[in-house]
Amino acid sequence: MASNMTLDKITLTRIATLHPKLRLEAREIYIQTCRCLTGKAQVRFTQTFRSIAEQHALYAQGRTMPGKKVTWAEGGKSYHNYGLAVDICLLVDGKTISWDTLKDYDGDGMADWLECVDVFEKHGWQWGGRWKAGKIDMPHFQKTFGKTTTWLAEQVKKTGRVYVEL
Ligand SMILES: [Zn+2]
Repeated sequence: MASNMTLDKITLTRIATLHPKLRLEAREIYIQTCRCLTGKAQVRFTQTFRSIAEQHALYAQGRTMPGKKVTWAEGGKSYHNYGLAVDICLLVDGKTISWDTLKDYDGDGMADWLECVDVFEKHGWQWGGRWKAGKIDMPHFQKTFGKTTTWLAEQVKKTGRVYVEL
């Protein structure tokens, strides 16, 4: 971690809305990415928990509502809806948002984005960048605990709880 770099408060706030079982681990992942990225870029978590209602609205964008398509998942079909997913971007110079997956800001021979992927995958998270063509989602990571979104949706319905028992 560059000495002038401080933890991103926005990211820490978003980590706090993840499923309770993932909060400590997500914080650890975040701190590890801070250590790996020694240049002018650091990671920011742009999305963590997203309600099913928000997901419905997002799914409508670019379909029944104006705008560009931003998600493949209908409400309830995204792991974000259960606090089990994280989207990232890079924060350059502490202020500029970037989704450049190739740039090696810290000049260590590996794209900063892929360094982040490495940290997530070492913790057992799945990366959307490995999904099949047409469904690729480079900023997205999820930890599913082997559960389907259908099962998770049923649990939410049954218990009325946002965070399903895992
Ligand atoms: Zn996502």
